[in-house]
Amino acid sequence: MRKNLVIAIDGYSSCGKSTLAKALAKKLGFIYIDSGAMYRAVTLYFIRNEVNINDPAAVQNALDNIELNFHARDYNSHITLNGEEVSEEIRQMQVSGYVSEVSANKQVRVEMVRQQQRMGKSKNIVMDGRDIGTAVFEDAQVKLFMTADPKVRAERRFNELQSKGDQVTTLEEVFENLAHRDYADTTRKESPLVRAEDAIILDNTELTPEEQLKFALDKATPFLEVIS
Ligand code: C5P
Repeated sequence: MRKNLVIAIDGYSSCGKSTLAKALAKKLGFIYIDSGAMYRAVTLYFIRNEVNINDPAAVQNALDNIELNFHARDYNSHITLNGEEVSEEIRQMQVSGYVSEVSANKQVRVEMVRQQQRMGKSKNIVMDGRDIGTAVFEDAQVKLFMTADPKVRAERRFNELQSKGDQVTTLEEVFENLAHRDYADTTRKESPLVRAEDAIILDNTELTPEEQLKFALDKATPFLEVIS
């Protein structure tokens, strides 16, 4: 039995997983780990260094040369790639367009899962992603599977890009990227996105961030005594 509490949040792209995960971590004083940011940072490295994803030796060499670290600042996940802060750059469309291909690679997944399991070995954490409740922490005490209407998801992500100054990407492009990633993530061979049998579904199409936080806290509260 774990002595630490693990809250695993999986679901489709742009469902608000990280919004919920951050809020939960803040409320409970847990560490938040954005596993998607890790796949995105690896993707950025592969793009910059023109790593051939179909060459296992090149992929391994790249993975051996990548060091990822999270720096907790106000529960926003700030990730560094070999010491460089890349939190903004990994959200750009160039990375979003390629990340599903990179994250479908078995070598990449094995390495990311190893690092994620190490991070959650003894600390109380909230981790969000696609395979957290099914592969990374099958024994997580709390598992949530998030979903929302695809149009609502695209609008949310589009607004987020706009607020960060991206005036180039259209709503249609965002919608297509989400559809592409959902398809790739659910149909890939290695750890596809699927709801763990014991995961609770959370559809937040019509929920405010406060309402979804309350829903998740209600599910997590019975397990807090494990760690008290
Ligand atoms: O969560 P986010 O949308 O930033 O993740 C980017 C991509 O990383 C996903 O579309 C998916 O392909 C991949 N990913 C994954 N497994 C995770 C987290 C993310 O395959 N645990």
